[in-house]
Amino acid sequence: MVFHVITIFPEFFRGPFDYGVVARAAQAGKLRIEIHNLRDWTGDRHKTVDDRPFGGGEGMVLKPEPIFHAVESILPDRNEQDRVILLSPQGRLFDQREAVRLSRYRRLVLICGRYEGVDERVAEHLADEELSIGDYVLSGGELAAAVVIDAVARLVEGVLGNEQSALRESFQDPEAPALLDYPQYTRPAEFRGWKAPEVLLSGNHEEIRRWRRQAALAKTARMRPELLEKLRN
Ligand code: SAM
Repeated sequence: MVFHVITIFPEFFRGPFDYGVVARAAQAGKLRIEIHNLRDWTGDRHKTVDDRPFGGGEGMVLKPEPIFHAVESILPDRNEQDRVILLSPQGRLFDQREAVRLSRYRRLVLICGRYEGVDERVAEHLADEELSIGDYVLSGGELAAAVVIDAVARLVEGVLGNEQSALRESFQDPEAPALLDYPQYTRPAEFRGWKAPEVLLSGNHEEIRRWRRQAALAKTARMRPELLEKLRN
C-alpha cells in the first residue's frame, strides 16, 4: 500500500513514521509513505499556495490549482483502487471501521489543509471524501494525516508481526466491534500490593477468555457506555 501526503510542511513528517511497526513495515517494503511538498506544484516565482477568501473574512485559503495538479500528477492513472482524502473538521468522523475500509485501497492520497482551510472545489471535484479525526479544530491536516496513516498502516497485511494482534483490539473484535479491549497485565504479578487478576495466571484458557470478555464489557460500560448502546441496537 502507498500513502501519498500533500502538505505545505513536509518537514512535519520527519519523525512520526520513523518508529515502531510502521517504520519496520516501510523498511520491509510492505508499505510506502511519500511526502509531497504542495509548493512543487505552484507555477509562480513565490510558490504561492494560498490566497484571501472571496467574500472577505479572516485568514487565507489554500488555492485549488496546486492541489489539483499535485493529485493529478501523483495519480495519473487514478482508478477505483485509489482514494483521495481531504483532511477536514467538516469530514466524516474517522474511526476503526473507517480505518479497516481504507486499508483495502491500493493508494491513499491525503491532502492536508492549513490556515482557514481549502478551496471548496477540492472537496467537491477532486477528493473522494473528507475525513475528520474528531470534533475539534487543528491548525493543519498534518497531524490528522499522521493519525489516519498510523491506524490504517497497522491493518495492512504483514505490517503487524503477529497477524492476530490486530484482530481483537478495541473496536476491532469481530463479534463485538463496539467493545474496548480487555485490560492487559504483565510481570510482576504483584506490584505495590496490587495483584494481577489470578485467573490470568491460571493457564485455564477458557476461564481467561471468559474473564477477558467480562472485563472488556465492564471497562466499556465504565469508560464508553454509549458504545454498549450501539452493541444492543
Ligand atoms: N476553517 C475551518 C473550519 O472551521 O472548518 C478549519 C480550518 S483548520 C484551521 C486548517 C486545516 O486543518 C483544515 O483544512 C484541515 O485540513 C485540518 N484540520 C483541522 N481540524 C481537523 C480535524 N478535526 N480533522 C481533520 N483535519 C483537520
